[in-house]
Amino acid sequence: ATPMAIMVGTGLGAMNGILFKNAAALEDATKLDVIIFDKTGTLTVGQPEVVEVVSAKGETAEIVLTSAASVEQGSDHPLAQAIARRAQGLVVPAQKGFENIEGMGARAEVNDDIVYLGNRRLMDEQKLDLGALAVEAQRLQGAGRTVVHVARAGKVIGLIAIADAPRPSAAATVAKLRERGVQVAMLTGDNASTAQRIARDLGLDIVLADVLPGQKAGKVKELQAQGKKVGMVGDGVNDAPALIQADVGFAIGAGTDVAIESADVVLMKSDPYDVVGALELSRATLRKMH
Ligand code: ADP
Ligand code: MG
Repeated sequence: ATPMAIMVGTGLGAMNGILFKNAAALEDATKLDVIIFDKTGTLTVGQPEVVEVVSAKGETAEIVLTSAASVEQGSDHPLAQAIARRAQGLVVPAQKGFENIEGMGARAEVNDDIVYLGNRRLMDEQKLDLGALAVEAQRLQGAGRTVVHVARAGKVIGLIAIADAPRPSAAATVAKLRERGVQVAMLTGDNASTAQRIARDLGLDIVLADVLPGQKAGKVKELQAQGKKVGMVGDGVNDAPALIQADVGFAIGAGTDVAIESADVVLMKSDPYDVVGALELSRATLRKMH
């Protein structure tokens, strides 16, 4: 594109809260074959909320919640905050020896018991059997909930179901991109059942679930190895390597500084629909070249 077209495109973007940090991004955005959205905080609002607590036989919802909230005192994960909010007003014991277990959950000592909490993979790894709760977990994941499994003293005592609402424009964003012939993917550390349900609601083409934070950039690379130009939209610290690896990285404006620094385009209004606006600006800019 001509320097003049780039200037006009960049200026129009800025006026609309779409900040292109380099001319290459403005030129490349319209060439993207697939755009990957991080789930939490990008396609969803990123303010998870506890919607249900299920306890195993002989346990109570209160002990499940307070055990979990105790461990989560050591964590700043969005799920930890949701659990803390739900436990407000209950007596939450102090924890000792908190350990984060990346991409899976956490553990700590609560009143002399070891408490593990997190996803199914963590339970499997610790050889903690879900027993009758397996059916409940399936039901909740099928409904698109993130299930936090809580195990105490070697026994799974309950499940905490957490919901994170899609951003209001998420489905329209996906529909518009697909209409333009762009494939749309969702990337998440969440499990496949939960992710599939959300993907179905939003009309996504590709679901990349159970992805550990360190694997996100690799997923971008895999699609690039298929000869595709890949866009990545994310908000979190652990999205940064994927934003850098992508042909065009888009950061949600309300996201972390690291994500914003790693991206080529910043969506100041934190609205995923602005990805569509970015593609349109890109197309208009390139057209002015001819
Ligand atoms: P994301 O939150 O983007 O899905 P993460 O890598 O942070 O990805 O976490 C992956 C999964 O591990 C979460 O979906 C959750 O099931 C579990 N998990 C991680 N940290 C915690 C935590 N502090 N409390 C409960 N569950 C957790
Ligand atoms: Mg995120």
